[in-house]
Amino acid sequence: MKVEVMSDILKANDLLANEIRELLRANGVTSFNIMGSPGSGKTSILERLIPMLPKEIKPAVIEGDIATTNDAERIAKTGVFATQINTRGACHLDAAMVKAAIQKIELDKINLLFIENVGNLVCPSGFDIGENKRIVVSSISEGDDKPIKYPVMFKGVSLVILNKIDLMELSDFDEENFTKGLKKINPGATVLKVSAKTGEGFEELVRWVKENIAS
Ligand code: MG
Ligand code: ZN
Repeated sequence: MKVEVMSDILKANDLLANEIRELLRANGVTSFNIMGSPGSGKTSILERLIPMLPKEIKPAVIEGDIATTNDAERIAKTGVFATQINTRGACHLDAAMVKAAIQKIELDKINLLFIENVGNLVCPSGFDIGENKRIVVSSISEGDDKPIKYPVMFKGVSLVILNKIDLMELSDFDEENFTKGLKKINPGATVLKVSAKTGEGFEELVRWVKENIAS
């Protein structure tokens, strides 16, 4: 019984996610679902990336968190529109939450929507939220075993951002082990090494964004 209820919930979510994707497509908006552990640097990456984007890219941001509006406030300082979803305890975003948040965005004024998911390497991967591409942020301080420990998360993403590479020398992070694990799970994923602190690797990230915006 429980299994059936869950599959009905997921079916309803998928229908809504497809509606969101169609609405965004009709407005010429590409969307990226950004996932990763708490503290991996999802918000810090957006704070550094957004001011570097070329003028023709007009982003807005949906921030998902269990509580607080801290992250949306940080993003708003970059000058782009940001709206916060508080999930009230839920550890992932679902399509209904994103659909409600999208009502607040002037879709004719943007062409890119970043959706920062709740910090969690498990269940966000089970919910389609109408995105075009999935991104996972993993950081040096989390260790090099994350792809093999959280295969479902790493399997579905187009881009893996390896953040905090400024800490590489100070840690025992084994980059070869990380890459080997990821290759097993998702050989097609692009990997970009960045530091949101120093800005290293962000030109490549800007290039990836430009190449992955649907024309
Ligand atoms: Mg955040
Ligand atoms: Zn969850």
